[in-house]
Amino acid sequence: MSQILPQTHVDGRENTVVSNKASWQQKHIAWLAAALALPITATMTAYGVVEYGPRETVQVSQVTQELATPILASASSNAPFWREEIIQTGDGLGKLFSKLAINDLQAWDFVRTDPAARALYELSAGRAIQAKTTPDGRLLELSYLNRAGDLIQIVREGEQLRTHIAPAIAEKKTEYKTGTIHSSFYAATDAVGLPDAIAQQLIDAFEGKIDFHHSLKKGDQFSVIYETERSGGEVIRTGKILAAQFINKGQTHEVIWFEGNGATGAYYDAAGNSTAQSFLASPVKFSRISSGFSMRFHPVLFTWKSHKGIDYAAPTGTPVLSTADGVVTRVEQDSGYGKFVEVKHGDQYSTLYGHLSAYAKDLKVGQAVKQGDTLGAVGQTGRATGPHLHYEFKTNGKQVDPLTVKLPNSKPLNATQMAAFKPFANSIKQQLALLNRVELAQID
Ligand SMILES: [Zn+2]
Repeated sequence: MSQILPQTHVDGRENTVVSNKASWQQKHIAWLAAALALPITATMTAYGVVEYGPRETVQVSQVTQELATPILASASSNAPFWREEIIQTGDGLGKLFSKLAINDLQAWDFVRTDPAARALYELSAGRAIQAKTTPDGRLLELSYLNRAGDLIQIVREGEQLRTHIAPAIAEKKTEYKTGTIHSSFYAATDAVGLPDAIAQQLIDAFEGKIDFHHSLKKGDQFSVIYETERSGGEVIRTGKILAAQFINKGQTHEVIWFEGNGATGAYYDAAGNSTAQSFLASPVKFSRISSGFSMRFHPVLFTWKSHKGIDYAAPTGTPVLSTADGVVTRVEQDSGYGKFVEVKHGDQYSTLYGHLSAYAKDLKVGQAVKQGDTLGAVGQTGRATGPHLHYEFKTNGKQVDPLTVKLPNSKPLNATQMAAFKPFANSIKQQLALLNRVELAQID
């Protein structure tokens, strides 16, 4: 199972260290699989690192550990990519090709002319479609599970493409992925083949703790245990995240899915507090588009202190969401904020959204809104140097920094639920710790 590759520049002592590590891993992975009965599907590559002093870090060996059926886990830059898109109303194949980053004329001709590939023309909104491509967009595989339960696959066989249609036999799996952020969040999730739907859940799960728009750092790490359904080895559907860890700026955050003892299924932190927030951390969803946008355009981002708000760079038209349930108190325009909306949340809190390009249709003062409802669209009306949302959070009418203020939390577990949660959370934390140790340190 485990293989130690030839080593160079290593004396006997370090060699022993590495061997011990390998056998430690084997023992603990066996224990992990047996004791916790978590069917994990992953191939993991671990790098043994020996510190010789404060400055010198030497990579001494590579250990490949197979836990079960091997799946793609290569992080090299020419590794194929799996992308998944949820089909939206009005999406045609051409649009989906572009969303899935397929840049392949041969494949485009094929899906339009192959009689069997016509099955792909009945796409249902809300269902997932996956594509495996080379980094430059050559299609290796396209798979789509239709409503009838048939798995339609376009598969590259050498220079040819073929269509396979067969009833899908889905197998439920629990999978694990861990990654390190080197350039951007999505580059890191792509590098380890984390499905997009799971990447989005990861953002949602940690949004209350981590400001994905402003505070991700090189070296941040994530680990995720999540559900999938596979057919013929391929992921045909993703489920929910069961547990995840995110290390942001050296601080470790965890979320654990827990249901039972009367608790409805929800995410909790390791202490048993619900991670559902009374306020969304961000009024603009962190997405591939908004993340790429802020990196490309480098808009001037002011600090909270200098202008009592937080700016979110995003393309004009990006939906602006109410961060909490409330009542609309202002839908106005002035020279500074441009078009703006203000929402009151209970007696104490209010939020303001400025520089909008448009208000949500029929939005008016007095209207009740729910957390996540669209209030308008990002723009650059008023005093703005580029398209962005200016967001203010007020407590008793005074602007405060929402990232530092202690906001009311959703209710924690009761005593009986907590009694069941504690040992469960501990076992999950152990699993994450063990899985992460298999990965060992990475050289950065
Ligand atoms: Zn601003």
